[in-house]
This record gives sequence, structure tokens and C-alpha cells, in this order.
Amino acid sequence: MFQRFERPVRCADGHLFTTIWVPLASLKAVRLGRRRYQRCPVGHHWALVSPLDPAAMTVEEQAAAAAVHDVRVP
Ligand SMILES: [Zn+2]
Repeated sequence: MFQRFERPVRCADGHLFTTIWVPLASLKAVRLGRRRYQRCPVGHHWALVSPLDPAAMTVEEQAAAAAVHDVRVP
């Protein structure tokens, strides 16, 4: 369901979405350990987001995260 370098993430407000998560390279976010401070496309706000393990997510959570990408990948 998720492309390479795409990770489902959850923002501090609990919104689920998918973002580009490239190790050691971050062009549009402030890295704070495993968390990042970036724009949340669900709530349209800035928030700390944490990467999620797809294997630990429910199908509903995966679907919710996959439904919203912060970057349109052609
Ligand atoms: Zn949010």
C-alpha cells in the first residue's frame, strides 16, 4: 500500500496521513529525532508527527493514512 520512502504518520492531534520519509534527507521538515515538525494536510496545521509501523496499524488506520498524502507523487 505504501511506496518506498512513504510512511504513514500520525500528527499530535491524531490525524493520519502519508508523507515522504527519507532517512537522513529532509527538505521540508524539521527533524526532531524520529519525530518531525511539519504541515498536517488533514487538519491544515503545523504539528509534530510520528512515523507509524504499518504492520502495527489496523486496516482502517492504514486506509485513513493512505487516503491523504501531503505530496502528490506522479
Ligand atoms: Zn493534524
